[in-house]
Amino acid sequence: MMENKEQIIKLAEENVLHTYNRYPLVLDHGEGVYLYDTEGKQYLDFAAGIAVQALGYHYPGYDEALKAQIDKLIHTSNLYYNEPAAEAAEKLAHVSGMSRVFFTNSGTEAIEGALKAARKYAYGKGHRDKYEIIAMHQSFHGRSMGALSVTGNDHYQEPFRPLIGGVRFADYNDLESVKAQFSEHTCAVILETVQGEGGVYPATEGFLKGVKALCEEHDALLILDEIQCGMGRTGYPFAWKEYGVAPNIMTCAKALGCGVPVGAFVLDEKTALASLAPGDHGTTYGGNPFVCAAVSKVLDIFEQDKIVEHARQVGAYLEEKLDALAENYDFIAERRGRGLLQGLEIQGRPANDLVLKSLEEGLIVITAGGNVLRLVPPLVITEAHVDEMTEKLERAFSR
Ligand SMILES: *Cc1c(COP(=O)(O)O)cnc(C)c1O
Repeated sequence: MMENKEQIIKLAEENVLHTYNRYPLVLDHGEGVYLYDTEGKQYLDFAAGIAVQALGYHYPGYDEALKAQIDKLIHTSNLYYNEPAAEAAEKLAHVSGMSRVFFTNSGTEAIEGALKAARKYAYGKGHRDKYEIIAMHQSFHGRSMGALSVTGNDHYQEPFRPLIGGVRFADYNDLESVKAQFSEHTCAVILETVQGEGGVYPATEGFLKGVKALCEEHDALLILDEIQCGMGRTGYPFAWKEYGVAPNIMTCAKALGCGVPVGAFVLDEKTALASLAPGDHGTTYGGNPFVCAAVSKVLDIFEQDKIVEHARQVGAYLEEKLDALAENYDFIAERRGRGLLQGLEIQGRPANDLVLKSLEEGLIVITAGGNVLRLVPPLVITEAHVDEMTEKLERAFSR
């Protein structure tokens, strides 16, 4: 047993492949909306493991549900049925108002499945040359080859080309640029309802409605990536519900299991009936009883404890506080976001430096798109936690 911080960092640096530039922080345990490092220092968590820990840490009933499932069955194969997966799928279909669910192990795998479903839908209708996908500049959809192919970021794509073909890029919130990429070859448009990693940009209502209309006109599918902005984060069960624009395929992950690795792509009835069929897609782990017991419990807690309504209320308070900060500090160019997915665009000083100074003050925040300070706290934070965050952030500003 090793409890020394430097020893742990050294061990990791010597043995784990160096793909992350990590902050000098060794986290040990969590409680509520606080994290504690190996030296016992407390941090108010406004990153939530990158929008994963929507219920914070040790939410009443969550651990117990997982422990009970461990005692019954952790894993079985998708060759057989299991009760947690059936229940979790029913609940997810119900809250989304969509039709069929495929469980994955991560967000990037949910994107892979969504892309395959879109291509199969066009193929199944006999359109062998209808395979193009329109994606957005500054988007983020994941790191596997398919998801990377629709991620509009040259820096991420460059070393790994050639990527999958038939992807065209348009500008987010610019309907004309999407229109310019459309043709009879377009099988789908993929976009985040609120862009996360790219710098926290919500879609405008006119853009989302316009893209949906273009999709309908061309019999193309609309794929909305709700991996970061979904699961109540914007104050709606899924961000698209605020716009009243329903996708044909939605991707989820991050907060879906509140800590266990699980994602999903969810299809509407029309797409479910005419895309992926037996033999087209599969996964060994995806939707196993353990992770689905978590999804099922998370969705129960969301409903019983009105988590989404709470997120909407406290999100409005957070917006108010951040707007005040943006007014008081010249280096904050803009506040953007929805509910509890918020970004402060920083000018004239590095956003990452503010993250480091915040850590010293006992506050965990992250960046997005290089110059944006991103706040994605647990949805269960209270107004008092928002006040505490603001005080810590202001102390970090003046460091
Ligand atoms: C995080 C994220 C992904 C990728 O999810 P992973 O679980 O890291 O593979 C995809 N899309 C969006 C919008 C994300 O925020």
